[in-house]
Amino acid sequence: MITVSNLNKKFDDLTVLESINFSVKKGEVVCLIGPSGSGKTTLLRCLNLLEIPNAGSIMIGDKTVSFGKKAPSKKDTRELRNFSGMVFQGFHLFPHKTVIENIIEAPLIVKKKKKEELIREGEALLKKVGMFEHRDKYPDSLSGGQQQRTAIARALMMKPEVMLFDEPTSALDPQLVGEVLRVIEDLAKEGQTMVIVTHEMSFARRIADKVLFMDGGYIVEEGSAKQVLEQPSEEQTKKFLQMIE
Ligand code: ATP
Repeated sequence: MITVSNLNKKFDDLTVLESINFSVKKGEVVCLIGPSGSGKTTLLRCLNLLEIPNAGSIMIGDKTVSFGKKAPSKKDTRELRNFSGMVFQGFHLFPHKTVIENIIEAPLIVKKKKKEELIREGEALLKKVGMFEHRDKYPDSLSGGQQQRTAIARALMMKPEVMLFDEPTSALDPQLVGEVLRVIEDLAKEGQTMVIVTHEMSFARRIADKVLFMDGGYIVEEGSAKQVLEQPSEEQTKKFLQMIE
């Protein structure tokens, strides 16, 4: 479903991603782990072109976009973005809109569907993430966990082929982490394809079909959760896991 080939990303003279190659199959959950500054967020942001890579290519579905001197066309950018839904560390909800208004906003504008139909779809999704009874509340009256579950529902409203999560629980109080992870685990059980940047190793162990360990802009090690997290073969991976556990 996704194939990333020889991807490079620089910020001015700083090379942040170097020769990145990996693939994600339909229904697979891939977790990106690694130390701070290793390039995980940048890689995730490259997948939906929030950052434009300097070289390499990304194939999503049957669409391939190559990067080089020329910026990708508006059409390519739109097609790649339509493929994925992104959930950020901070929840980025519209503060002046209620939960239900937040989640129908994008499809209302982009898909031009009827509002009543979108409200029905939105309510079903809010039930799924346990937010139905909060549908008419504003973000500032919700806990961080509730805001993040709303943000997940909002991304799902666009029916993305792949969900991209950037450290979805790292801005949350510890007691709110579980409720968000459970929603993501339910999506995994339903076969939703996902790429997740996370520092929650026990979560990665439970959910990931594949774990990529990144360090210094490279993918240092890749394999099943068991291989990478329990029997890592690279020294850098071993050191990182010892440090955080
Ligand atoms: P963390 O776990 O702390 O979020 P990360 O592995 O996600 O880290 P990135 O956020 O991708 O790492 O950052 C990789 C490198 O790129 C870092 O050195 C960071 O300072 C740099 N970087 C990221 N975004 C920018 C930017 N917009 N401009 C310049 N440098 C950037």
